[in-house]
Amino acid sequence: MSNAAQNLYDAGLSTKSRVSGQKLSIRAQGRFIRPLSAHIEGFSGRFAQQNKKIRLNRVDKGTLSTRCLYDALHARYGELHWWPADSPYEMMVGAVLTQNTAWGNVGRAIANFGDRLNPAFVLQAELAALAEIIRPAGFFNQKAAYLKALTQWYARYDFDVPTVRREPLPRLRAELLATRGIGKETADSILLYAFGFPSFVVDAYTSRLCARLSLPAGNGYDAIQAYFTERLPVDAALYNQFHALIVIHAKTHCRKRPLCGDCPLGESCERKGV
Ligand code: SF4
Repeated sequence: MSNAAQNLYDAGLSTKSRVSGQKLSIRAQGRFIRPLSAHIEGFSGRFAQQNKKIRLNRVDKGTLSTRCLYDALHARYGELHWWPADSPYEMMVGAVLTQNTAWGNVGRAIANFGDRLNPAFVLQAELAALAEIIRPAGFFNQKAAYLKALTQWYARYDFDVPTVRREPLPRLRAELLATRGIGKETADSILLYAFGFPSFVVDAYTSRLCARLSLPAGNGYDAIQAYFTERLPVDAALYNQFHALIVIHAKTHCRKRPLCGDCPLGESCERKGV
């Protein structure tokens, strides 16, 4: 299964950008984020204009530092400007719909809403009617219920982003995790990409990259999330870009069958398990 963020990244590719072989062209959208170059303390931007193999310094008891990892990926892929949705609510809906399905199916489901993709419609719609709209996304009966539950959560805050943002992150995350159909990855994706909270998103790509690089991130969502957040400034824009970089890298180079040639991390990667 692709995770929510990577699938919405796919949406960005299909609607906003173009992939040709290993070359990637992304049109900046400029929503929800701001420039990143100063977000990591000591970030020099020295690799920013380079697009070649970089020998990365290994620090932290022999492991690749998160800063070097970020630098190398940023140098290769640049600013990615996630998330490709027209509104925070559409992003929330997409994050649910993309569970266990490819983005193309989500796109068709979202298109079925037409101009009805808003919280009021989802709340008042009959469950069966809502399920029919989102049928292309698969698991449509479950997901219809999930969308209603998520929208009921959003109703507590009057469907208002600033109202949500006034609440503490731990409380919001706990509320989302208590909402039907919302797991950690979906909750963090919503908090980060819809509301701009510093909630680092972990997905299967993150786990795979950590393993192949032999980063001591441990296993499981919480351990890997902690590995990054303990080494990075608390910064939503940084988390936004870092996760996007990991996803694009996993899709262009560090695939299930990796394409290690010309990999920006190739000089330092242990290729564990490859
Ligand atoms: S060298 Fe290969 S295994 Fe290592 S990060 Fe690059 S693509 Fe992945």
